[in-house]
Amino acid sequence: MKNKSSPECLFCKIISHELPSERLYEDDEILVFKDINPQAPFHVLLIPKIHISTLNDLGVENVGMAGKLFLTAKYLAESNDLEGYRVVVNTNQEGGQVVYHMHMHMLGGRQMKPSLG
Ligand code: AMP
Ligand code: ZN
Repeated sequence: MKNKSSPECLFCKIISHELPSERLYEDDEILVFKDINPQAPFHVLLIPKIHISTLNDLGVENVGMAGKLFLTAKYLAESNDLEGYRVVVNTNQEGGQVVYHMHMHMLGGRQMKPSLG
């Protein structure tokens, strides 16, 4: 599903300030905020400001925004002195997705473990 926003969506509520978050960066297309349950010293979520449920709902019209998610991860790594980091997009239940507003996890600040799955 793709919409400007979705009323019951947790991350849409964060975007609209209905729910609080610790914001690191935002512009007209994307928002970056700290994960509430960090799995590493640095753990943020990079999300589109429009409601896109999963990576499977991304379209060619979203490639600019999607590219910006990656570039912003790179800039955040630079500004937070992260030597290395990991980005992950969990997709659908089998992919471990819990919140159905597409998001990129960015983890860093410690040695990542070899296992991804
Ligand atoms: P996923 O399993 O990929 O859907 O990840 C959802 C992530 O959202 C988890 O890492 C949660 O810790 C995080 N999360 C859930 N609620 C909030 C919230 N209110 N603020 C920040 N992060 C959240
Ligand atoms: Zn949403």
